[in-house]
Amino acid sequence: MSQVSEEPAAVPCKYRTGKTLGRGSFSVVKEAIHLETGEVFACKVINKRLMEGRQKMVRNEVEILKIVSSRHANIVTLHDYFETRNNVCLCFDLCTGGELLKVILEKGKYYERDAAQLMRKVFDGVSYIHNAGIVHRDLKPDNLLFKDGEIMIADFGLSRFMDEDKPQVLTEVCGTPGYMAPEVYRKRCHDPGADIWSLGVITYFVLAGYIPFDRAETDQEMESVLSGDYTFEPSQSWESVTGLAKGFISSCLIRNHTHRPSATQLLDHPWLSDNTRETSVQS
Ligand code: ADP
Ligand code: MG
Repeated sequence: MSQVSEEPAAVPCKYRTGKTLGRGSFSVVKEAIHLETGEVFACKVINKRLMEGRQKMVRNEVEILKIVSSRHANIVTLHDYFETRNNVCLCFDLCTGGELLKVILEKGKYYERDAAQLMRKVFDGVSYIHNAGIVHRDLKPDNLLFKDGEIMIADFGLSRFMDEDKPQVLTEVCGTPGYMAPEVYRKRCHDPGADIWSLGVITYFVLAGYIPFDRAETDQEMESVLSGDYTFEPSQSWESVTGLAKGFISSCLIRNHTHRPSATQLLDHPWLSDNTRETSVQS
């Protein structure tokens, strides 16, 4: 048991590891300095023992990254991939600005125009991913990172290729409660619409600083998602937000996933298309 919880070993050979940047369920992400060039990357170190029986997940993450990485300005770039005796290591561009989650928790919610500008980039990246036949399945503010002021979609660990012949075969419950669509809770299906729901929750979070389905207990949270029970309240958080923004969020949070617009369609929504000013964070 003590072996399982052990820290993944340092990255050998070409890299020297530095400070820890973040942690996920199966990984530790560390700074990795390239010994020859001095360039600094973010290295996702996945412990093979923790992944026993789930090796397919890592192979899948790499396969998907090979398709989406470096192809879009708002999707993280995978630079290198190698295995050591104990770990699988994925080296990414270093996103020095950290998680959107931290930015909002530390600095506060976004002004509406800035939120639209930010979310436009996220929707553009997600539209690219969906058009490549991939569903992300774990969109949340901890998987959206800042690099040189740009928002980047990261963590393709739960992503899947869509099967065009059987578009609704993804039936596992996966994702993060609070951001998961009702049909995912119900194990009905997991198509691109599930990502749109999560983006609706993220847009709400960016504008309000809290999420719409946050409840004291997990089953209450699930109930509120299943019944679509959310409000734009308290009023002091929402009174300065336009009906257009609320309408945008509501169309992402349509309970029936077959009625939700696609990411590409939402890029034409007037809330996202009116997008001309600089980004700043409200305190
Ligand atoms: P998991 O699949 O285990 O959730 P992630 O890929 O989401 O792993 O990485 C875990 C955390 O590590 C992220 O939430 C983030 O804080 C940090 N991280 C991941 N990739 C990078 C990166 N390229 N640059 C900086 N920090 C990163
Ligand atoms: Mg993650």
